[in-house]
Amino acid sequence: MDSSPQRPRREVRPTDQPPEGATHKNARPVLSFTAKRRGKAPSHLADLDGAGRKRILKDMGFPPFRADQLSRQYFAHFEADPARMSDIPAGMHEAVAHALLPRLVTKVVSLEADGGRTIKDLWRLYDGAQVESVLMRYPQRTTLCVSSQAGCGMACPFCATGQMGLTRNLSTAEIIDQVRAAHASCRDGALAGGPTSLSNVVFMGMGEPLANYKTVVGALHRLVDPAPEGFGMSARNITVSTVGLVPAIRKLAGERMPVTLAVSLHAPDDDLRDDLIPINSRWKVGELLDAARGYFLATGRRVSIEYALIKDMNDQEWRAQLLADELNRRGHGWVHVNPIPLNPTPGSIWTASTRRAQDAFVRRLREGGIATSIRDTRGSDIDGACGQLATAHAEGTRCVSLRKEKR
Ligand code: SAH
Repeated sequence: MDSSPQRPRREVRPTDQPPEGATHKNARPVLSFTAKRRGKAPSHLADLDGAGRKRILKDMGFPPFRADQLSRQYFAHFEADPARMSDIPAGMHEAVAHALLPRLVTKVVSLEADGGRTIKDLWRLYDGAQVESVLMRYPQRTTLCVSSQAGCGMACPFCATGQMGLTRNLSTAEIIDQVRAAHASCRDGALAGGPTSLSNVVFMGMGEPLANYKTVVGALHRLVDPAPEGFGMSARNITVSTVGLVPAIRKLAGERMPVTLAVSLHAPDDDLRDDLIPINSRWKVGELLDAARGYFLATGRRVSIEYALIKDMNDQEWRAQLLADELNRRGHGWVHVNPIPLNPTPGSIWTASTRRAQDAFVRRLREGGIATSIRDTRGSDIDGACGQLATAHAEGTRCVSLRKEKR
C-alpha cells in the first residue's frame, strides 16, 4: 500500500475540455460584450419612472392621474392587461396596451420540481429570444431567480448560458415583467403550499447583470421603489450576482440601494480563475475582492461569495484555506461563502465534488472563521442550472418535464 494515503489527486484544469461548439481542441472561451441582436424591446410602463409614465399619457391626450392607476394595477395587483383593469375606461385599453403595456414575455414551458415548491419558466420575448426564470418556495421566503440578458457573453466554461454567447440585453421592463408574473403566481397559489408572496429576487438567471448595468439599476428601482412607482420590495432581499466586473461593482456601491452583492469567485487564485472565469483576464482576484470589500463598506451589506465545487478542480482543502486567508486579510464579518455543488452541463467532463471533499472544504472555511453555507440545488432535476432549460428546448427536447421526472 502507498505510505501516503493523501497522495494528491490529479488536478482537473478548465482547459482539459474545449468549449462546446469548439472547432479545435485548443479553443478558448471567448468573452463578448457585443450582442448578436440589436433590436430593442417595445417601450413599457416598467421602463419609466412615475414622471415618465405621466408624460407619455399626457402626450397621448389622457389625464396624468391615469398613470398612477395603471402603475397600481401593474405593481400592486400584478395585472398587465389593460382590458382587465376595471378602473381604466374601455376606450383607453387599446392605446394603453400599445404605448405602455405591450406584452413582453410569453410562457413557452413551465416545469415543476421539489414537490411543486420550484417552478421554472421559459419565456419567449418579442423577438423570439428566450430566457428563464425560477421561482422557489422556502419555509421563510419565496425567491425568484431572474434573467438580465438573453444568453451571456462571459463564456464561463462550466455554465450552460456561458456556452450560448450573448444574444442581447433585456430591457428593464423585460426583467420586471418576469417579476410581475412571479408575484401573480405566488398570489394565485401556483406553488405547492398555497398562496404566498414573493419576498426575494436574485439576479442569478441568464446573463451578467453588471454587463447590462443601466437597465439592471432601472430594474432595481422598480423592485424597491414603493407602489405605484415600483413593487416596494426590500432592497436587502434583492441579490445582484456578478462574475466580477470591478468598475461596475464600484458604481453599484454608489447607487444608494443596499442590495446584496454576490460574487461568483469559484477560485481564490488567478492561476485557476484565469481559465475558469474568462473575465479574470481583465480583473484579477485581488482587485475583485477589494471591490467586494468596498461594496460592504459602502452599503453595510454582507457580500456573498459563490463557489461552485468542481471535482478535483477547485475543491482542494488548500484552496479553501487560501480563500479563507484572502477574505480574512480584508477584514472579518464582511462576507460569507456559498459553496454550491456543480450542476454539470450536458456533455461536460466535469462533475460536482464528492460529499467528502465538499465537507472538508466547508470545514476548512469555517475553521478559518468564514461564515459558510452550502447553497441548495433547487430544480436540478429540471435542468435547473442557469441556461440548461433554454438549451434543452432549443435542441428540441420539448418533453424535458417527462424525461426528467424525479429520480
Ligand atoms: N453572471 C452572473 C449571474 C448568473 S449565474 C454571475 O456569474 O454571477 C448565477 C450563479 O450560478 C453564478 O454564481 C454562476 O457561476 C453559477 N453557475 C453557473 N453555472 C453553474 C453550474 N453548472 N453549476 C453550479 N453553479 C453554476
